[in-house]
Amino acid sequence: MRISMVSEHASPLAALGGVDAGGQNVHVAALSTALARRGHHVTVYTRRDADDLPERVPILPRLEVVHVEAGPACHVPKDELLPFMAQLADGISNDWGERPPDVVHGHFWMSGLAALDAARRGGTDARVPVVQTFHALGTVKRRHQGVEDTSPVERQWLEPSVARSADRIIATCSDEVFELKAMGIDTARISIAPCGVDLGLFSGSGPREGRTGTHRILSVGRLVPRKGVDLVVRALPLLRDAGFGDVELLIVGGGGDPEALGADPEARRLLAIADAVGVRRQVRLRGQVRREAMPGIFRSADAVVCTPWYEPFGIVPLEAMACGVPVVAAAVGGLRDTIVDRRTGILVPAQDPAAIAEALAELLADPGLRAELGRAGQKRALARYSWDRVAAETEKAYQHTLAGSAAARRLEPVEGAAL
Ligand code: UDP
Repeated sequence: MRISMVSEHASPLAALGGVDAGGQNVHVAALSTALARRGHHVTVYTRRDADDLPERVPILPRLEVVHVEAGPACHVPKDELLPFMAQLADGISNDWGERPPDVVHGHFWMSGLAALDAARRGGTDARVPVVQTFHALGTVKRRHQGVEDTSPVERQWLEPSVARSADRIIATCSDEVFELKAMGIDTARISIAPCGVDLGLFSGSGPREGRTGTHRILSVGRLVPRKGVDLVVRALPLLRDAGFGDVELLIVGGGGDPEALGADPEARRLLAIADAVGVRRQVRLRGQVRREAMPGIFRSADAVVCTPWYEPFGIVPLEAMACGVPVVAAAVGGLRDTIVDRRTGILVPAQDPAAIAEALAELLADPGLRAELGRAGQKRALARYSWDRVAAETEKAYQHTLAGSAAARRLEPVEGAAL
């Protein structure tokens, strides 16, 4: 199959951990790689966000990234990219020329707009079938972030319109299917394919970073309020009251190195909270960490804590599981699919520092329980979340879409034929 991926803000080549660079970048890179390894030809279209990027970057045989001119060639926050989507669609359809792909797969609602737009101009009579993965839904974001949501107002009607116009939607978790259904989308057009984890990189064996405290708990992700890292900071004094005072909370993520973090508003907020609740000494902000260094950091932790307000999928818990580390996670969104409560980790109610502290105290007190949950998590990650398996499920969704659009074309009335 010839597949075009569209990922307007999340380049597979970007460094991770900044405000707009996280799971989607990993997802697009790993899924495209796995599909290319399965014999498909994959081109990833992303926005040129720096002057010095080459137009085409070959990654593997059958896989390349194309940087398309769409707006200024510098970083633009993703919520300000909407005006450039028509230009992105122009660049994509120009690159297709007379040879459009078999399928175009949009990632995030804005890429869906560009994918649909390019597909309509595809150069042949039949529109290129469009598959859409939202990664996050505006309805959910607005529900949780309210006035803090910086999405353009147009998202309210354009995102549902992408959902209605795409030939197929790939949801990453069951919670997303309920949200799409509530939006009026027919579930017959929805497939589920989760995110995966790079099992070659994330595993239980290999070096582990040294640590200073008796215990280390780890939080990894973009430093944005909705990731709920402040809840973990607030859990530390409660954990101390429960007898676990020598606990280091290592926070990985945020743009740049520890020095650049000084200017990061979320980093400052977290440190101010740590000061206010008397745990400043226990909190360490590491800043952005390269992917290759992540497994050694995961393996150094007694537990990984993921307590976002909401989570469309959440790759970090899978990485922790693959490394054999138990996860304490908020029972929200995709985390309810990946974590099996009390088998691979402990699920806690959302926004509840006391519940986080209680779960952590239970784990820190019991090395046997940690090892048992870690082993079960590893087994689950290996059995269900390899990128090859995710690519096979995605491939099925593409085939379904192609079969559907071929059938639809056969049913289309021929011009001039009697009706
Ligand atoms: N990540 C990383 N370095 C960092 C911070 C994050 O490699 O400094 C990676 C992390 O390991 C994971 C991804 O970024 O693979 C975050 O994905 P997730 O789905 O958990 O969160 P999202 O960014 O999609 O909200």
